[in-house]
Amino acid sequence: MKRKPLIAGNWKMNLDAASGVALAEELCSAGIDFASRDVLVAPSFTNIYPVAEAVKEGGGKIAVAAQNMYFEDSGAFTGEVSASMIKSAGASWTILGHSERRAIFGETDADINKKVKKALSEGLSVILCAGETLWEREAGAAVETVLAQVGKGLEGVKDLKNVVVAYEPVWAIGTGRTASAADAEAMHKAIRNYVAEIRSAAAAESLRILYGGSVKPENAGELLGMDNIDGALVGGASLKAAQFLGIINFDK
Ligand code: PEP
Repeated sequence: MKRKPLIAGNWKMNLDAASGVALAEELCSAGIDFASRDVLVAPSFTNIYPVAEAVKEGGGKIAVAAQNMYFEDSGAFTGEVSASMIKSAGASWTILGHSERRAIFGETDADINKKVKKALSEGLSVILCAGETLWEREAGAAVETVLAQVGKGLEGVKDLKNVVVAYEPVWAIGTGRTASAADAEAMHKAIRNYVAEIRSAAAAESLRILYGGSVKPENAGELLGMDNIDGALVGGASLKAAQFLGIINFDK
């Protein structure tokens, strides 16, 4: 079974409210074939509301995600944002465990696991990111690293129906270097086999596993044509409508 592809744009700390809304409007009016692909954008926290309003106006087919979330409900956690706040701003997804959160902000697998559980219990769908560093890859520890991140991130999560995993090799993020389609496919297959082991064959079969790391219109078709690559998590190339649409329409 080939799963319905999901093309997700992680805008990171880019685009102000007006430019985020303008980009969302352009995507909404681009004639995307939503019957054959899902599309999601992840603006910064402050821009979730206006972007969510813009996509609602534009037909409501594009989903909105947060880029992070805190696992507590409310309280003295200055600077943090809860699942219910994200939902009330109009997002239905959150990205969790992005390598920039892990490397720059010190998020651990245990933190990420708490966030995954909280997000799901509040009704948010989750993109759980995992990926190895160049050092880990060169040391032959790529698969082990990624499977450990996936396993720990999903600890105690029985139902994976609202979970998507994104494999993002750290050395390929924002660097212009992409994993070869064959290497990415091998990792995706390893993730799927592992999920079959720790959950069930059915859960593994229906799990969408995205690839992220310098995805561009030029390489999207080859990557997304692989059996176990079910979409893309796109950073830099999601900031310009033409480029992002070139990836969204990867098989057109
Ligand atoms: C990302 O940050 O999730 C990402 C994949 O970035 P880029 O596409 O710019 O490599």
